[in-house]
Amino acid sequence: MGDTIVGGDAFTVVAGPCAIESREQFAAVARHVRAEGASALRGGVFKMRTDPHSFQGLGAPALDYVDEVRRLTGLPFIVEVAAIEQVEVLAPHADALQVGSRNMHNYYLLKELGRTRIPILLKRGFAAQLREWLLAAEYVVAGGNESVVLCERGIRTFEDETRNTLDLAGAVWARQHGPFPVLVDPSHATGRPELVAPMCLAAAAAGLDGVMVEVHHDRAAALSDGFQALTLDRFSALARDLRTVLAAVGRTLTPVEQGASPA
Ligand code: PEP
Ligand code: MN
Repeated sequence: MGDTIVGGDAFTVVAGPCAIESREQFAAVARHVRAEGASALRGGVFKMRTDPHSFQGLGAPALDYVDEVRRLTGLPFIVEVAAIEQVEVLAPHADALQVGSRNMHNYYLLKELGRTRIPILLKRGFAAQLREWLLAAEYVVAGGNESVVLCERGIRTFEDETRNTLDLAGAVWARQHGPFPVLVDPSHATGRPELVAPMCLAAAAAGLDGVMVEVHHDRAAALSDGFQALTLDRFSALARDLRTVLAAVGRTLTPVEQGASPA
């Protein structure tokens, strides 16, 4: 994702809903985050839910909305690929494919992604050691795809006041011990919107490459992870504070891609 989405000195903000729920929902969130400084969009299509009776994502029908919102905002789009057969379904509509925490150990999926030339965002397994995470990234690279970005999304510990425990030191360690840029996802790491902004600011100050955050325009109505989503206003405040912290350490937000259409 090297040069286009993440990388260099700038700090990348990937933002969007947990899952794409409708054209209106995705467009409303995407327009807002773009206007406030996000330089890439997220939004689940095939969700990996713990509860089989919960919303599983719209699946392929969401891809029409993806095409439209990508065109509307001009922003690159990152989506989770949950199984090998989804690679060819999602790739034409995405700028990067995400491997979720639950699939970090799915080595045959990683090998398949190594055969593509699509940038890969590899989340850390919630019980994976740092070296296992780097070795998982090596599976993709070994296939010839060197465009890998890591994402720390919290690990499982004894603590249950937060959804997971954000291993910020581990994220910095991974950046220091591998060739890959590293993002953090404080939405899944904390499960609490009031902790998302402080952890994003910490990631910026710690020299990491960016963050991925979940945002919803109507949290109460969200079909997944509404409890941890940032409201639009909270996202605006975060973007403002990130600019302040980044300026203090001589960095900037990744500019929205040249040629992106106005939101
Ligand atoms: C996600 O980012 O939508 C997601 C499911 O995250 P994770 O794989 O980290 O749980
Ligand atoms: Mn989510």
